[in-house]
This record gives sequence, structure tokens and C-alpha cells, in this order.
Amino acid sequence: MSKKLSVQAKSSSQNTLPLGPRVIPRAEHPISRAQINEHALKVLYKLKDAGFRACLVGGGVRDLLLGREPKDFDIATDAHPEQVRQIFRNCRLIGRRFRLAHVFFGREIIEVATFRAALGDEHTDGKPRSGALLEDGRIIRDNVYGTIEQDAWRRDFSVNALYYDISTFSVLDYTGGMDDLKRGVLRLIGDPAVRFREDPVRLLRAVRFAAKLGFKLDPATEYHLPRLGYLLDDVSPARLFDEAIKLFQGGYGVQTFEMLRHYDLFCCLFPQTEEALTHEEHGFPLTFVVHALRSTDERIATNKPVNPAFLYAALLWEPVRLMAEARVTKGDCAIVPALQLAADAVLARQMHCTSIPRHLSNIMREIWSLQPGLLICKGPKVFKIMAHPRFRAAYDFFCLRAQAGEVSEELCQWWTQIQTLNEAEQKRMAGLGDNTGKKRKKRKKRTAKPKTQQDQAPQGTSHAP
Ligand code: ATP
Ligand code: MG
Repeated sequence: MSKKLSVQAKSSSQNTLPLGPRVIPRAEHPISRAQINEHALKVLYKLKDAGFRACLVGGGVRDLLLGREPKDFDIATDAHPEQVRQIFRNCRLIGRRFRLAHVFFGREIIEVATFRAALGDEHTDGKPRSGALLEDGRIIRDNVYGTIEQDAWRRDFSVNALYYDISTFSVLDYTGGMDDLKRGVLRLIGDPAVRFREDPVRLLRAVRFAAKLGFKLDPATEYHLPRLGYLLDDVSPARLFDEAIKLFQGGYGVQTFEMLRHYDLFCCLFPQTEEALTHEEHGFPLTFVVHALRSTDERIATNKPVNPAFLYAALLWEPVRLMAEARVTKGDCAIVPALQLAADAVLARQMHCTSIPRHLSNIMREIWSLQPGLLICKGPKVFKIMAHPRFRAAYDFFCLRAQAGEVSEELCQWWTQIQTLNEAEQKRMAGLGDNTGKKRKKRKKRTAKPKTQQDQAPQGTSHAP
């Protein structure tokens, strides 16, 4: 299928020597321009016409080669960010760690990155060149520009380091990504111990891509997963929050969750949940989390919106529930305040691992606080709860609890049914129909009497004499 056009040894301080690209010409790969987003194509052509090298890279190339629909189209070029800005009027430069150009087409953004050098290429006289900044083996700033080869070697996985060159329509492979793609193997480029230390988020990315693509992990890459999770302690909670969303809202949440637990990485993101799941005998909580993830996966598969607050509420429910129940059992307080206190404690601890924006944690609290109310299906509270802006999410959450066997299925069906009825029927269902019934009975008695003129023509109608 592919042809090796040029193989040249290069001197480099990297672990693995770059050998020059293996070039896969247009006739030997399936990527056609018709599959590439029109705005990404525009950016590629404009860069090329301005005399720069321009390639599609990353997940876009990988997914097109696999016959999948890419999530986004990333572009790499030898134009520096400022040069990119000069070419596109609709362009903004962003980022501190990576300086990137965002080209806007209405609401769509095409990301353009300048080729960068790998870590090993940055050192001159034992010091990192300006633009690269290291701390304990971690890259904290990485703005050293380089060649396309260097750019390929500093990427994470070989299957993410394939370039579709707009000037020749060929695919360039510097790191053996095409072979790995064919074999269905996810392999971290270079020495995995070094590359995971440089950026521990790659541990999570390894799981995310393996689950999404259904790929096997290369043994050398896999070896480190259960051993290096502690490195995630040093990653900012904000970055881990973004990554957690990608992990669980990427459409493969169930597989990702199981794989994260298998490699002892889930505990690095959600330690309280892991603790609660490990000590639980009944299996409800695990089933509950899996149900929540499955329903999210199904919604994504059918293009329905998903709310990260709902998913986070599900992921943290078990520690919140256990803590609240312990308080109630001790006689400290009633269930609703107990849930609120537990939410405070669990959220505060979770923020050390993955931050949670305030607007999301507020929704999570509401979903949790409404749960005890859903156990009661009598009286005016039924209407109060149904009028709550978060009722629908709380009800969906309650149904997942029922599916997991934590609350009764009948209760869940009761709430499902009441939502399909009109107000009078709802009142009757909530045990408020009796009053209405009695009144009606009384009225009936009165109308049973011989009718007077007044009875026959109600006041104020046009039928009044
Ligand atoms: P997705 O389908 O999720 O968009 P992707 O492979 O495109 O997958 P992105 O997060 O969009 O992933 O990143 C684009 C590319 O940038 C990757 O394919 C990879 O080449 C490179 N990259 C991203 N994050 C890292 C990282 N932490 N270390 C090294 N390279 C990275
Ligand atoms: Mg991408």
C-alpha cells in the first residue's frame, strides 16, 4: 500500500533517531479533499499560496485514514503565529504554553500550530533554548519552533503524528504511525517513561485514544500506565477537568471508565469515587456510574446535548450519598441538609484533582438535593418539585438510580407517568384529587335540586335575561 521514498539518517539528541518521512502518495491512501472541512481546506491553501508549508495533522488525518469522521481538523505549518495572523484577518493568537493561531469562520475555529522542536532538540550548552521551560522533567512552556520532522517527534502517539501535505496530497509518516494504524496499536513516540514525565496528561490521552479507536496499547506504553498515575498530582486541576470531560464525553465513556480503573488511573481523577466503589458490597454504585456513562454515550451517538454537570453529579454521587447517610444515621440532621453538607465536603476535595466551574457545581448540588423529594409522591411537594428548573435532570438522575437498583423502579415509573398527565389528573395522582372530588360531589347534589332561574343562567353570561 505504501512506498518508502526517502530514508535519511538525521543527527538528533532524541531517544529515537528521525529517519525522514515515509511518503504515502495520494494514490495509496484514502484521504480525499472532499472529506476535509471546507474552512480547514481554505486555511491550508491560503498558507500554501503565501509560500508556507501547510499540513493537516493529528486526529483529523488519523480518523480519515481509519474511515472515521474527524472531531476537528488541526493544521501545522512552518509559518510563525504572527505570520499566520498577517495572512488571515479573522485570526487570533492564543495560549501561553503553546502559542497557537485560531482562525475564525463564524462560530467555527480552525487551529493552526507552528512546527515545534522536540524536547531533546532544545538543549544547547546544557540549557534549554529560550521558549522552552522545564520543571522536574515536565514541559511547562514549549514555544521552540522547529522543522516538520521535529514537530512529528514531539507529538504524543505515532498515529497522531501523520501529516497530510496540501502541496502534494500525500501523507508523511516520520514515526511509524502508518504501520501502527494498520496494526491497531497505540504507541507513545520515543521513550514512554520520559514522554509521560514530560506531560503526564499523556497517560489519560493513552486511555482515551485506546478506548475510542479500539486499539491495543503498545506494551512499552502500557507498562507505565499503572505506575505513573501519581504524576497527575502535579497537573493543574483546570487542565484535568478539561481532560476528564474529553474522557467521559467523547462517546466512549463506558470503555474509558473501565480502562481507567483497570490501569489505576481513575483514582487519580476521582479518588473519593474510587474509594466508595472499592468498599461497596452491593454493586449498585458501580452499576449506577456505568449506566450514567452509557446513557451519555447513547446521547452523544444520537447527537443529543450532554451536560457535564449531570455526568459529574453521577460520578460523585456515591461519596456524597455515603457521607450524607452516615450523618443521618448518626442523627446529626435530616437528609436534605445532610446532602448539602456532604456536597460541600466532596466538592471541596474533588477541586484538588479536577476543578469544577461554579455554574456546574451549582447544578450538581441541585440535582443531588432534589433526590430525597423524589422519594415522596404525595401532596403539594410533588408540584413544587416538578416546577423546579432542575427537575428534569433530577428525574433523569433518579431513573438511573432506579436502573441501578438503588431506588424502586415503581417510584421512577410514577414520576414518568405523572409528567404525561394534565393538571387535574396530576393532582389526583398526588393525592390532591380528593378535595376536588368532594366539591364536585357537593355541586352535583345542588344541581340535583329543582332548578331556579338563577341556576340555569349563570351571572355575567350573554345568556342572562
Ligand atoms: P481528537 O480526536 O480528540 O481531537 P487529536 O489527536 O486531534 O484527537 P488533540 O487534542 O486535538 O487530539 O490534539 C491534536 C494533536 O496535537 C494530537 O493528535 C497530537 O499530535 C498533538 N498533541 C496534543 N496533545 C499533546 C500532548 N499532550 N503531547 C504531545 N502531543 C500532543
Ligand atoms: Mg484534534
